[in-house]
Amino acid sequence: MALEFSQEMEAPLITTSLIPGDSGEVNLRPQTLSEYTGQEKAKGNLSVYIEAARRRNEPLDHVLLYGPPGLGKTTLAGVIANEMGVNLRVTSGPAIEKTGDLAALLTNLSEGDILFIDEIHRLNRVVEELLYPAMEDYAIDIIIGKGPSANSIRLDLPKFTLIGATTRAGQLSSPLRDRFGVSLRLELYQPEELQKIILRSAALLGTEIDPEGAFEIASRSRGTPRLANRMLRRVRDFALIDHDGVITKEAADDALNRLEVDHLGLDDTDRRMLMSIIQNYGGGPVGLDTLAATIGEEAITLEDIYEPYLMQIGFLTRTPRGRCVTQLAYRHLGIDHIANDDGQLRIE
Ligand code: ADP
Repeated sequence: MALEFSQEMEAPLITTSLIPGDSGEVNLRPQTLSEYTGQEKAKGNLSVYIEAARRRNEPLDHVLLYGPPGLGKTTLAGVIANEMGVNLRVTSGPAIEKTGDLAALLTNLSEGDILFIDEIHRLNRVVEELLYPAMEDYAIDIIIGKGPSANSIRLDLPKFTLIGATTRAGQLSSPLRDRFGVSLRLELYQPEELQKIILRSAALLGTEIDPEGAFEIASRSRGTPRLANRMLRRVRDFALIDHDGVITKEAADDALNRLEVDHLGLDDTDRRMLMSIIQNYGGGPVGLDTLAATIGEEAITLEDIYEPYLMQIGFLTRTPRGRCVTQLAYRHLGIDHIANDDGQLRIE
C-alpha cells in the first residue's frame, strides 16, 4: 500500500503503511533473532531451519511471511539474512512490472542471497510464472528476439532464497503458495511485547521513558510495532514540551489523548466503523463493502488495518453473513442498549 503524504499534510497516526517520519534519524529495526521481540512460534521454527541450513551449508528454503502490515515481516527478512550471513535484496510485487525486471534481479544475486518480495500477492501473472522455475529449479527460461526467429534460452541462477511477504495469503495463487517450503504467520503483539520494543526504541532514540509510560503507549498501539514506534516518536515531542522530556504514564496518556487515540488504541475510524454497524445495521451482520461505503473508507483499509485489531480485542466478529459488533464494544462505546421498540432507533 503506497500512500504518499505531502509535507504540509499531517500523516494519520493509525495507518500501518509507512509514512514519512517512520524512518527517522535512527534505525529501529532489530538485526538478530534475539533482538526481535515476540512472534515466538515463528522465531522458534525459523531458528531451527536457519541452523539446519547453515549446518548443511545450503541456502534456506523459500519462506512466506504473512499477517497484517507493520508486524515486522520486512524486519524479519533482514534478521534472517543477517543470521544466515548473506545479502538481502528488497523489492515489492508492484515494483516488478516486467519479466525482464525480475530476470535482472535474479541473475544479479549471489549464491545463498535472499530476495525479499513485499506484497507478493500483487505480482502480475507473467512475472509470477517466471518465479516458478526460479524457485523450483534455480533456472529461468527467457525469450530472445521476436517472431519466428525468437529463441528460448535457459539461464541458471545461483541457489537463492525467496522470502515473500503478504498481508493476504488467501490471494496468493496455489502454484506460488506451494513453492514456499516454509510458511509463517505473524500475529498481533501482546502489550508486554510492545512495551519491550518501545523501551528498546526509546533507548536507541535517547529518550527517557519509564516502564509504565512504555506500557501506556504499548496498550494503545493495536498490537503493531510500527504503530508503537510511531506513537513513541509523537509522544516524545509532547513529553519534551510539557513533561520535561520524560515519558511517564501521565505524559503518554496526555499525548495520546491529544492525538485522539483512546485507551485501547481506537481512533475515530474505529469508532465510526463500530457506531455505523450499531446505528445503521442493528449491530450487524453487515457486509464489508456495504460498511466501507457507509463510512466512506476503502474496504481493503478496513480489512487490513482496522479489523484485525478489533477482532483481537473481541469487539468485532466475522460471520459468513458479515461483520457483527459484540457486547464488549457496546460497553466500550458507552452504549447500554439500543431501544428499537417504537420503530425509532435510540442509543441509550
Ligand atoms: P512489515 O514488513 O510487516 O510491514 P516492518 O518489518 O516494516 O513491518 O516493521 C515495522 C517496524 O516495526 C520496523 O521499523 C521495526 O522497527 C519495528 N518492528 C517490527 N517487528 C519488530 C520486532 N519483533 N521487534 C522490534 N521491532 C520490531
